[in-house]
Amino acid sequence: MDDQKPESVVNDPTLFVTAASLRGRSDWFIRLRWMSVIGVMTGVITADQIAGLPLPVKGIVITALITAILNVGYILHNRRPATSLNNEVRIVKVQMVMDLILLTMLVNLTGGIENPLYLVYIIHVIIASLIFKGKEIYQITGLAVILFTLETLGEHYRIIPHHHLMSASETIHEPLYMLMTLGAFWIVLIVAAYIGSTFMKHNRAIKDDLVQRQKELQDADKAKVDFFRFVTHEVKSPIITALSAVDLALDKNDGNEIVDNMLGRASRRLHQAIEIVKDLSDLTRGGMKSRGRKEKIDLAELTKKLLVSRKELIDSRNLILEADIPSSPVQVKGVPDKIEKILVNLIDNGIRYNHDGKRLYIVLMDVGSKVIFSVQDEGIGIKPKDQELIFEEFYRTPAARETSTLGTGLGLPIVKRFVEQMKATLKVESEPDVGSTFTVTFRKRL
Ligand code: ADP
Repeated sequence: MDDQKPESVVNDPTLFVTAASLRGRSDWFIRLRWMSVIGVMTGVITADQIAGLPLPVKGIVITALITAILNVGYILHNRRPATSLNNEVRIVKVQMVMDLILLTMLVNLTGGIENPLYLVYIIHVIIASLIFKGKEIYQITGLAVILFTLETLGEHYRIIPHHHLMSASETIHEPLYMLMTLGAFWIVLIVAAYIGSTFMKHNRAIKDDLVQRQKELQDADKAKVDFFRFVTHEVKSPIITALSAVDLALDKNDGNEIVDNMLGRASRRLHQAIEIVKDLSDLTRGGMKSRGRKEKIDLAELTKKLLVSRKELIDSRNLILEADIPSSPVQVKGVPDKIEKILVNLIDNGIRYNHDGKRLYIVLMDVGSKVIFSVQDEGIGIKPKDQELIFEEFYRTPAARETSTLGTGLGLPIVKRFVEQMKATLKVESEPDVGSTFTVTFRKRL
């Protein structure tokens, strides 16, 4: 670990332990410590008043008070922002050492080896193995072993006072019995440290692997978006130039049918290329991060507006439009043109891939904190094996390619990206030749 690391490295989420995560755990210890202070105070009152155990109440209360005062110090420290990982590790270590010393004092005041309270050392070892790796775990374990051993031997050789628990048997203090108890304690502590560190080593390896894969995916996604952006930028002007030339030639053509046909076909293909460029630019616009200003949008009004603008197209296919849209506003918060793109793509697909004369059913529902928008058609449908592929760029099912030469295979990837950016969900249910339903569930977040 290096003190000189910049802040970005200090809080690097790819590290298993960061200054920020240590700070979070330190806050958690503070809460645990309050609980243990309350536990000790309750325990001492119970032992004294109810069980009638002759405990040195004053000493125990002082130990609990020291713990409480230190805890307040830790809280004050944690109010300042975390600086470096090294610093935080040092502070957590100091806290753990102080905790072990205070625990040893408490063990001494409550009967020493007679009291099973010494098992609490194991909790410290487990916590150490969750936070640290390698040598720090064994340092904490070693300290726990030394402190409890010194405490036990100190009491045995009467170097420090012993507080006898009424219920405890005197045999506990026989050297052999004492050594057996200490031996078992050492073994349990070392095994706990070993299991904890091995377990965490495994977890760290899994996390490292996941972080690595996530990074590779992000890099691949970024490379793809950069490539699309480059293509969009480079290809746009030549296509527009070619299209205006073709349109001009079509205009000037003096009735030659073959030329007319060829130029007409070229013009249509160039229009399609422009659609692809537009879609690619949408896809890259919503690139790595969500951009654009969020506003409140009335989905009821927007859906109605979109359906009116597509009335001619719907009529030309003899589709039976059924729209179940509330008359009152249905508001969601989001970037307006991204929301519009989602609705437009799903409605247009519902029209494009429907069978002539069939039903197109559009539903908008306000369901408390969520808004459901769905488009159902009775068209060509999508085979189960294609239902994931249709969200990949440029993928078009064979049935779709037969039905319509229009289409870029970019509409659904755009929908998917924008839906993810809005933390909405997208579901597809479909059966070949029966129809498809695409459902988006928006969060209102008003
Ligand atoms: P396209 O421009 O081809 O419509 P999309 O990305 O919008 O591109 O859709 C990708 C593919 O998903 C389509 O080519 C089609 O195969 C399939 N698809 C999308 N919507 C439907 C639908 N409502 N019914 C059947 N297939 C659909």
